[in-house]
Amino acid sequence: MKKRELRFGSSLSFSFEIKHSPDNSLARVGTISTPHGQIQTPAFIPVGTKATVKSVLPEAMADLGGQALLANAYHLYLQPGSDVLDEAGGLSEFMNWPGPTFTDSGGFQVLSLGVGFKKVLAMDAQTFRRDDVIAGNKERLAHVDDEGVTFKSHIDGSMHRFTPEISMQVQHQIGADIMFAFDECTTLHNTRPYQELAMDRTYAWAIRCLDEHKRLTDERIGKPYQALFGVIQGAQYEDLRKKAAGDLGGMNSDGQSFDGFGIGGALDKEQLGTIVGWVNQTLPEDKPKHLLGIGAPEDLFVGVENGCDTFDCVLASRIARTSAVYTMEGRFNLSNSRFKRDFTPIDDECDCYTCTHYTRAYMHHLFRGKEILSATLATIHNERFIVRLVDQMRQALVDGNFAEMKSDFLGRYKHRSGQARD
Ligand SMILES: [Zn+2]
Repeated sequence: MKKRELRFGSSLSFSFEIKHSPDNSLARVGTISTPHGQIQTPAFIPVGTKATVKSVLPEAMADLGGQALLANAYHLYLQPGSDVLDEAGGLSEFMNWPGPTFTDSGGFQVLSLGVGFKKVLAMDAQTFRRDDVIAGNKERLAHVDDEGVTFKSHIDGSMHRFTPEISMQVQHQIGADIMFAFDECTTLHNTRPYQELAMDRTYAWAIRCLDEHKRLTDERIGKPYQALFGVIQGAQYEDLRKKAAGDLGGMNSDGQSFDGFGIGGALDKEQLGTIVGWVNQTLPEDKPKHLLGIGAPEDLFVGVENGCDTFDCVLASRIARTSAVYTMEGRFNLSNSRFKRDFTPIDDECDCYTCTHYTRAYMHHLFRGKEILSATLATIHNERFIVRLVDQMRQALVDGNFAEMKSDFLGRYKHRSGQARD
């Protein structure tokens, strides 16, 4: 059978073009071009951690408007092994997703094993702060030193080590269009001295990533160009964030600089816009910026208006599998008994495959019966909801009515928090 042709075009290299930028705002509309196609920005990038958006076909992800997918270097390194993806012709070929792809570096994942904040970063800066959540516990699964991180596989307990060089080698083998530099991700629980130490390490690792990236790009001649984004840390501190953005923004090692930037690390929800604003005012304007692990609707508005171009978050698909869905009226759980005889769509304003073919009553039935189709249909809806919301923000920036669109949406949508990387 002939492979279905999806709509992605291609170019040989990586570029970013700003097409529209409203006055007096950091927000912008642009196009990222990669060897596997273009991304119109701002855009939400759905997460397919292990080279699959759990329970959903790549064709369905394209149909719901997904422009690119983000996988994870840590998970793919452990299983099936990044060499397998290399042999397959890269992530895109391996998973039958012909569009652009991203890989997260694995830094967040190996370090989150160490500090026990699991998959959700702490969002409250007012709670206790001690470095021993990172440094003192013998039971922890990851140990950081100046050279890299040693960690225990969550799959079989085997020991592994990531350094900036290894992360680059793994990400080159995986072959995503956009990769992230290996960084030390801290939490809001760390003290200021520890944040400074981690930032110095991230700076040193960024140079090593650039050097190894350049070496691998030269060595793997004939492969599509892979762009490398530096990751800005610095927690909630203005001076640290601006220093990191200035240092990495201007970093050039032997002619190699970063193609774009990720904003990572501990982000206090209340200060999200302020922190992102400091960073994006300092970084070079003409390079794309990705806000790592942010995907709650109200946070996406803050990211867009403060100059972020792309976003990823595993929340839309993860909560879908627990029956939680986004709607214009807020978030609710389809397994709730009040939906047993509700024969309306999940969201009557939604144009997704699920909402145009199925009812809340049917979804309620699938979740109650633990049918696997529940995950597929709910994920399609949630991913469509978030992808479309950011698409609508992009259109509103072009039309000059972003502020009205934002207040209209948030006036109806009940706030929920969420930050999650997988
Ligand atoms: Zn829908």
